[in-house]
Amino acid sequence: MRIGLHDAEYERMLNKSFPNLALMKISAYYKSFGCQVEWWVPDKKYDLVYSSKVFDFTPENENLPKNTINGGTGYGLYDELPEEIDRCYPDYSLYPLCDYAVGFLTRGCINACSFCVVPQK
Ligand code: SF4
Repeated sequence: MRIGLHDAEYERMLNKSFPNLALMKISAYYKSFGCQVEWWVPDKKYDLVYSSKVFDFTPENENLPKNTINGGTGYGLYDELPEEIDRCYPDYSLYPLCDYAVGFLTRGCINACSFCVVPQK
């Protein structure tokens, strides 16, 4: 299978430097089955396309296929990866400039900054 990945912030934010952990795990999951995983390119044929966005104000790409699987806090506070994908070790090859580890040490937050959705999640 050929899997297309779309990082909404990477496309819209100049100088975006943070990787998308969910997409890294999705990539690792499908690669473990021998699938071809790559960044989504318009007009190219894919068996599945995943789009992820962190922020709800990030615009969506209107050229994504209608059956794109959307996920991330930008689409809904309670979007979660299926457990079998969430357990995967992230595929760091997606973001070659990322020279640090990404993951969760804790979940939630005891603070309540007005602009942040972490306490709600
Ligand atoms: S910005 Fe969010 S995660 Fe950070 S301290 Fe405030 S509520 Fe917690």
